Amino acid sequence: MLGELPRESVVEVEGVVRRSEKSHRGVEVFPTSLRVLSRAEAPLPLGVVDKVGAELNTRLDHRVLDLRKPSVRAIFELRAAVLEGFRRAYTERGFLEVETPKLLRQGAEGGATLFRVDYFDRPAFLAQSPQLYKQMLMSAGFERVFEIAPAFRAEPSDTVRHITEFTSLDAEMAYPDGPDELRQVLESVVAESLRFARDRIGERGNPLADGLPEAKTPFPRIPFSRCEEWLGRPGAERDLGTEDEKIIGARAMQELGSPFYFIVDYPTAVKAQTFYAQRQDAHPDLTYYFDLGLRGLEITSGGIREHRIDRLTENLVSAGLDPSSFESYLEAFRYGMPPHGGWGFGVDRFVWALAGVPNIREARLFPRDRYRLEP
Ligand code: ATP
Repeated sequence: MLGELPRESVVEVEGVVRRSEKSHRGVEVFPTSLRVLSRAEAPLPLGVVDKVGAELNTRLDHRVLDLRKPSVRAIFELRAAVLEGFRRAYTERGFLEVETPKLLRQGAEGGATLFRVDYFDRPAFLAQSPQLYKQMLMSAGFERVFEIAPAFRAEPSDTVRHITEFTSLDAEMAYPDGPDELRQVLESVVAESLRFARDRIGERGNPLADGLPEAKTPFPRIPFSRCEEWLGRPGAERDLGTEDEKIIGARAMQELGSPFYFIVDYPTAVKAQTFYAQRQDAHPDLTYYFDLGLRGLEITSGGIREHRIDRLTENLVSAGLDPSSFESYLEAFRYGMPPHGGWGFGVDRFVWALAGVPNIREARLFPRDRYRLEP
């Protein structure tokens, strides 16, 4: 009867457990009775134990079977451990976990990557980022907050690093002692979460534990102008593209010996659209905006925010946005807003980079992209 049972069926077995050299678990069960709880259909659309790999699209079409593979499950054990590590690290540092709305009347930076939804008799948008709300919470006196939540972007491009629904780990804090305090908190939280994840999955024999990068703090700080020199275009003030980021990641490894690195002092001209980024007092042509990269992949953007309403309004106008559509955000700046800063960290990008798999989609259980809305 066992021989006729299709693979992947669910059975209840009673029997005798004996030590066995043949089995990789070191034991074998010799059944005395067997009951079929759920008989699998045959053939399977995707092999679970086959050595031959299937195309990613086929795997994602039949994701439930794909997730049964121990190597795939290992990624989600890593993901859970990283998230647990972050929650602990933020909480220990006095950050309060919050949840902000995902249905909005307008997006953070406006523009083409907003998803529009029907909201009763008027349009609404899915949140691209909790940016405006976490800043508003600074005015509410929360001082240190973090949020782990979905963010939605109508990314029309089909790349290995963009998905339309991703998990953003955002943090914001009031009264930072300058931009470097933000980076110090961020790097310590990243390093701690990574240590926690390595121990947690390591003790369960997850093979991904051995491949995790060293997060030795402080991470190098590389001025944007130096990146431009590395790219052979000093002073160009052009934002960094995917290929540029890879070159910078390789140089950071070669010359500074670190898989993690900050890119600091973004020119105002490059971040003109980022109206909430504060310009530097001594160099208004530079902002306090920074990125955190891991081996050539941008995983975080952050910086000191503009908390002075007159300058913030000017920035909105020069970004081509209408301050009147940001009234509920601006109100938070009218009645006492502490200086503050923070960052947005891409959980999927981080897990993707740590797992060393080819595509960010493999870091999500059921990924969403331009072409995929199911399963
Ligand atoms: P990119 O230039 O790579 O598209 P971005 O500058 O639009 O990213 P931010 O708006 O700064 O990204 O978002 C903060 C973080 O959120 C990024 O560093 C990244 O880790 C993550 N992120 C942004 N967009 C996506 C996406 N479409 N898919 C997955 N992660 C994303």
